Amino acid sequence: MTTFEIFQFPCLNDNYGVLLHDEASQTTASIDAPEAAAIRSALAKKNWSLTHILNTHHHHDHTGGNLDLKTETNCTILGPRAEAGRIPGIDVQLSEGDTYTLGSSNLQVLETPGHTLGHIVYWFAGQNTVFAGDTLFTLGCGRVFEGTLDQMWTSLQKLMKLPPATVIYSGHEYTQANAAFALSIEPGNSALQARAKLIGDMRAHNEPTVPTTLKLELDTNPFLRPDSQEIQKILGLIGADSAEVFGEIRRRKDSF
Ligand code: ZN
Ligand code: FE
Repeated sequence: MTTFEIFQFPCLNDNYGVLLHDEASQTTASIDAPEAAAIRSALAKKNWSLTHILNTHHHHDHTGGNLDLKTETNCTILGPRAEAGRIPGIDVQLSEGDTYTLGSSNLQVLETPGHTLGHIVYWFAGQNTVFAGDTLFTLGCGRVFEGTLDQMWTSLQKLMKLPPATVIYSGHEYTQANAAFALSIEPGNSALQARAKLIGDMRAHNEPTVPTTLKLELDTNPFLRPDSQEIQKILGLIGADSAEVFGEIRRRKDSF
């Protein structure tokens, strides 16, 4: 199976830029475009030429570099159909179930509304990789700005059904704060305790905690664990349905 090379780099305050490169076809895609300058340097460093931008949602820290990069490289910009009017330079509008061929790889689009109403993620089944934007973070999930809590929970459940070995890239390095919150509502989760310690060490050495895997998130990310007895007990929601527990976890995180 052919695969692409992935190069991840920090940009803006706490965003991640990611480049995918397929050598055979000389295809190079940027996942979102937080900042033209950082992406330009990453491309120069790898000696790659940009051919595509894959936008997950319209927020400026994901689209701010679109137009400069398009002017410089004539790249093709993909993004959510539902937010097409707010994705600068969009060429290809995508919705649920759409597929797209990128070099020798195929991607599938999953709609994950909640953070924004049109948010999409890019799933490369053949590479076991999903680019989740601001929907699912390492030990966290995106703030629900435009959608409802129920919508966000439905979106996360969609991601939870991907193969457990799926590698998850996301838009931000928020993990240390996420770990502190996770421990506050599930302190007895030993996998979480061990992971929080590891994350502390990684951040102390300035190492990225992105990507993660779905398996790790299912075991430790509180937003994917509304069925946890301990979480339900701490929130006073024993036996409540998972959507309700998820909503309460998200509300608590907003004011943590
Ligand atoms: Zn965002
Ligand atoms: Fe963001």
